Amino acid sequence: MRLTIGVDIGGTKVAAGVVGPDGAIGERVTYPTPIGDGEALADVVARAVAELRAHHPAGAISAVGVGTAGFVDEARATIVLGANLGLVEDPFKERLRRRVTDLPVVVENDANAAAWAEARFGAGRGCGHVVCVTLGTGVGGGIVMDGELQRGRFGVAAEVGHYRIVPYGRRCGCGNAGCWEQYASGRALVAEAHDLARTDPRRAERLLKLAEGDIERIQGREITQAALEGDEGALHCFRTVADWVGMGLADLAAILDPECFVIGGGVSDAGDILIEPVRESFARHVTGRATRRLADIRVAELGSRAGIVGAADLALR
Ligand SMILES: [Zn+2]
Repeated sequence: MRLTIGVDIGGTKVAAGVVGPDGAIGERVTYPTPIGDGEALADVVARAVAELRAHHPAGAISAVGVGTAGFVDEARATIVLGANLGLVEDPFKERLRRRVTDLPVVVENDANAAAWAEARFGAGRGCGHVVCVTLGTGVGGGIVMDGELQRGRFGVAAEVGHYRIVPYGRRCGCGNAGCWEQYASGRALVAEAHDLARTDPRRAERLLKLAEGDIERIQGREITQAALEGDEGALHCFRTVADWVGMGLADLAAILDPECFVIGGGVSDAGDILIEPVRESFARHVTGRATRRLADIRVAELGSRAGIVGAADLALR
């Protein structure tokens, strides 16, 4: 059986695992992410790889795939900009190749790796045209068309969180304003709940209780819990965000016409509470809605495993 090591580099941790050809993860290790030091980061990844290889016979592992936060160039070698990693123009693949000399190494953007995993082994399996949207603190994405991951000419396609859904709208960390992630992300959900608690504390009673009366302590976890209990205030927050999500998906469908959208990230932990109003909003906004076939909208299945699984599988190709 061909085994591959998948590595998922995030802003706080480096997670690595041994992945089989069916996408199942065996042994896993996790290390804290060193920030602002490409050599130290390559050391950590190489240590994780060595640790996982030590428990397998020589030759059992055939490649190493790395999915990393940040922009990765079209040659899949350089982390052009890794804001959360504190890296700019970092020749990461070369650093890793010097440490892991006897295995092929592939470097990919983490959202692309996760999208690839969902399209191959998760909620999008069986579909050739899949758009994955990750609703986390921000909004990330990955596009698979005709069974191929779409990287764009310079390697940074599918930054769906930063397409401008509202001209001159809310300021975004990317330097623009009105980006989709300012309306459709976990941060937007929390902002909605804080707004409700300030302007209509009676409707936010359950949310405030879960946060022990401190508005700032109302976070995604509290909102999801209250919504799952059927709390009207929390459901209102989800419906507001879901409306924006569905609107954005409708615009993506106008351009890409996928067979299915896969929605992941922390906000999707609420399941149908999010997805049902997203489907309604999508159906209300998509162009040609009276006649076209509507893309399926599904919840991601692989959760935090997607980065490792996708990176590992990409390393095999
Ligand atoms: Zn932006």
